[in-house]
Amino acid sequence: MKNKSTTEETEYKCPECGEMIVRRKGISKHTGKEYDFFACSDYPDCEKTFGVLDDDTPDFDGKLRSKAEESKYECPECGKPLVRRQGISKSTKKEYDFFACSGYPECKKTFDVLDDDTPDFDGKLRPKTEASKHKCPECGKLLVRKKGVSKKTGKEYDFFACSGYPDCEESFSVTDDDQPDFGIVDEENDTVEK
Ligand SMILES: [Zn+2]
Ligand SMILES: [Zn+2]
Ligand SMILES: [Zn+2]
Repeated sequence: MKNKSTTEETEYKCPECGEMIVRRKGISKHTGKEYDFFACSDYPDCEKTFGVLDDDTPDFDGKLRSKAEESKYECPECGKPLVRRQGISKSTKKEYDFFACSGYPECKKTFDVLDDDTPDFDGKLRPKTEASKHKCPECGKLLVRKKGVSKKTGKEYDFFACSGYPDCEESFSVTDDDQPDFGIVDEENDTVEK
């Protein structure tokens, strides 16, 4: 029952049954692309397979499969350790890292990765505020640029909000030339003193 046509012998042994492991080629169901993997030579009696790690060794620990790395941080919600995972952004289609609670699916907490590789416990990244040079026409405080998610479309959008929040709840949409849309204010006269 052994199919030797596309198999390559290796020096590794199956951790399950002790038989030799062979390297094979498969076709990914998701991408249609060929990929290499390690399989137990005792197949079909033993169905163990392993991904190929960067250093060409079998992925005995399932590192590739789960793509989750335990971190030294704890979930502030339930106290379980956070794991670092990789996801694909729906908007940019790019891979990104994030921290997720290992208590998933009971605890669905996730955190962005800050510049210093720590979990974004304070939601610093999420609101993405950026100070602007524009002043609030209502109270004179500086406006900050924020990101919000539209309830209607589910899309991210930028807006300007007063840094005096929550005392001042003024906010403005962003015009085509990246200015706060003060509405009725004249183009030349976009700084309004109180
Ligand atoms: Zn085996
Ligand atoms: Zn948790
Ligand atoms: Zn204000």
